Amino acid sequence: MTRGHFGQFGGRYVPDTLFSALESLEATYRTIAPTQEFKDEFSKLLKDYVGRPTPLFLAERISAEIGAKIYLKREDLNHTGAHKINNALGQALLAKAMGKRRIIAETGAGQHGVATATACALMGMDCVVYMGEEDIQRQSLNVYRMKLLGATVVPVTAGSRTLKDATTEAIRDWLTNVNHTHYIIGSVVGPHPYPTIVRDFQSIIGREAKKQILSAEGRLPDTVIACVGGGSNAMGIFHAFVKTKSVALVAVEAAGHGLDSGEHSAALNRGTPGVLHGSLSYLLQDSFGQIQLAHSVSAGLDYPGVGPELSYLKDSGRIRLETATDTDALASCRWLSRTEGIIPALESSHAIAVLKTMSFKSDDIVILNVSGRGDKDIGTLMEHGL
Ligand SMILES: *Cc1c(COP(=O)(O)O)cnc(C)c1O
Repeated sequence: MTRGHFGQFGGRYVPDTLFSALESLEATYRTIAPTQEFKDEFSKLLKDYVGRPTPLFLAERISAEIGAKIYLKREDLNHTGAHKINNALGQALLAKAMGKRRIIAETGAGQHGVATATACALMGMDCVVYMGEEDIQRQSLNVYRMKLLGATVVPVTAGSRTLKDATTEAIRDWLTNVNHTHYIIGSVVGPHPYPTIVRDFQSIIGREAKKQILSAEGRLPDTVIACVGGGSNAMGIFHAFVKTKSVALVAVEAAGHGLDSGEHSAALNRGTPGVLHGSLSYLLQDSFGQIQLAHSVSAGLDYPGVGPELSYLKDSGRIRLETATDTDALASCRWLSRTEGIIPALESSHAIAVLKTMSFKSDDIVILNVSGRGDKDIGTLMEHGL
């Protein structure tokens, strides 16, 4: 594969001004990340601050109902409530190494904004988070958390006023302030080297899960399931298993009001290759390349694109694609809450939904990534009468 690409996907479709910043980010990453000092500092934060390793929990009641052994990887138990903190801390350490003390980020559901604001508070850095006005309204609790953590939240009123527009604004800020600012992207998207860096920082999820399942069952799982927005929790848990063909990797996208309704976020299922936010990947776009509105009840999946590596894994046939609608996700959130006492994020609830639609053998071992907890979604759940 050519540098910075996954098959035809990925690359670096950015203005000249950003090209050199991306080069220096890549150079820093290549030299700093492999050092023992960086690895020790990052592992220590993941252990003492985030609370890793997260448990791999055998969910016995849903296992009995589904007829297979279902293990839940509990990313919801991380400090700040989702997997996003793994990447935010890793990138904040890189920013520190590059001598950049101003951090910007985009956020949809607010989880990445909260994770970034948290990392900045911890390391004494300035933090500006771009967030669509629509998301500010539906995720007001996370907006308040970010402010409490000392971040400035900038409302984005352009376009659909959601994650795509927030990302565009963050890139615009970076163009102007690139000398002293690091942009912490929250998923495996954006120009090279972001998709690789974010995957590497999230790959702790899969490495832990692999070790945990080997110690619990003495063998690798048959299936690993994760929801896909941009794809960071999915790549995080898939990466350790990609080379082992016997492990089925299932990527679950948001079908919103239904795949044929035109109101969904299923870029891998229904998109075509195109360029958004600096890289080539599957996108929801019209025949002119205009980006279409994405929809999902979960703000974290409401994005019209998906990372380049997942786009490549789709084309190579390595991942299996599934979807869940808004209604499926809401019902699954209630199901897991009542059956196991775990209230999952609405994003993660999409992955949970496919347990009921896929077929398994009774001795199958399944690992499902619970990417985050549902506290941030209580308002949405109340609106839907759950
Ligand atoms: C942000 C988020 C997602 C979606 O992002 P990915 O990059 O696809 O992982 C999924 N689950 C939760 C809990 C999130 O906060």
